[in-house]
Amino acid sequence: MTDELAVAVARSAVALEGAESILLCAHVNPDGDALGSMLAAFWALRELGKDPVATFPAPFRTADVYRFLPGLDQLTPPDRLRDSYDVVTVFDVAAPARLHELQHQAHRANELIVVDHHVSNTDFGTLPVVDPHAAATGQVAQRIIGALGVALTKDIATCLYTALVADTGRFLYRTTTPEVFREAADLADVGVDVTEVSRHLFEESPFAYLSLLADVIAGAHLEEDLGLVWASVDRDDLDRHGLTPDHAEPIIDMVRQTQEASVACLLKDFDSDGVRVSLRSRNDIDVATISIAEGGGGHRHAAGFTAPSVEAAIDAVREGVRRQRGLG
Ligand code: AMP
Ligand code: MN
Ligand code: MN
Repeated sequence: MTDELAVAVARSAVALEGAESILLCAHVNPDGDALGSMLAAFWALRELGKDPVATFPAPFRTADVYRFLPGLDQLTPPDRLRDSYDVVTVFDVAAPARLHELQHQAHRANELIVVDHHVSNTDFGTLPVVDPHAAATGQVAQRIIGALGVALTKDIATCLYTALVADTGRFLYRTTTPEVFREAADLADVGVDVTEVSRHLFEESPFAYLSLLADVIAGAHLEEDLGLVWASVDRDDLDRHGLTPDHAEPIIDMVRQTQEASVACLLKDFDSDGVRVSLRSRNDIDVATISIAEGGGGHRHAAGFTAPSVEAAIDAVREGVRRQRGLG
């Protein structure tokens, strides 16, 4: 941890300890890291006798895989929030736009603490606690919880472990450092049921998911000249199998196994908000750069953006890969 980050961690703990009211927010469509880091902070603040409010932007529902998370039933819907809170803390939020309507409360706060790990973080908030070297926002949250002097409980540890295992792709991505294993060991020491967490997150899908996967994978394209593999899934595909957008999230992990490609792309075309693009890279290509150029963000090996159409999305991806490969 750099000196600058250590100071930010300490300052955030002081701000939270002295706060009159606290709002915790995860990014829109929260994943395991956003929910896990926010709920870990929620329980830690409760240990200190605080009464934080935790939320995320509409639509106010989470994927079924997160149902086991302690504290999910404690969340407050975004339309039931007060107009302002003394201290607002946001988790895994790379840019204010990822807060949607909750930018209102974020703007009005006396202190806006940004707990994050995206290289694309736009450096917003009055108190950024951003570590681009962290594998998960949960790691940054764990340091703040330590600075608050709160001992890890099983609930806090389960939330932090969820953040870690989710954002490292089960300890597989390049971000999985010895430090990550040490922190995971600390969390397991407190009694996290690691088998249960992984079963919920990765090993339980409805039977219909297999049919969806078969359809989407059957339509995948390999562009060998670019080292690019891509597939797309739309609302009709989901409806045909009686599934919801959450069920499409793990498909990218299947697509990215293609050994002939170093960049994998999944296009999710579900609503009028645009096509959500997930990008993964093995090594040579920096997908964060491609995504930032398209108004999105993320990390070197995992990033995303939103495009107006499937055609516009795949064209932008091809163009980004071509440019980085020096293909003009
Ligand atoms: P995903 O493919 O949705 O799992 O996202 C991979 C990574 O890219 C995550 O770290 C996301 O936070 C980031 N990301 C995806 N979409 C966007 C976006 N529209 N804007 C900023 N970051 C994004
Ligand atoms: Mn996230
Ligand atoms: Mn994250």
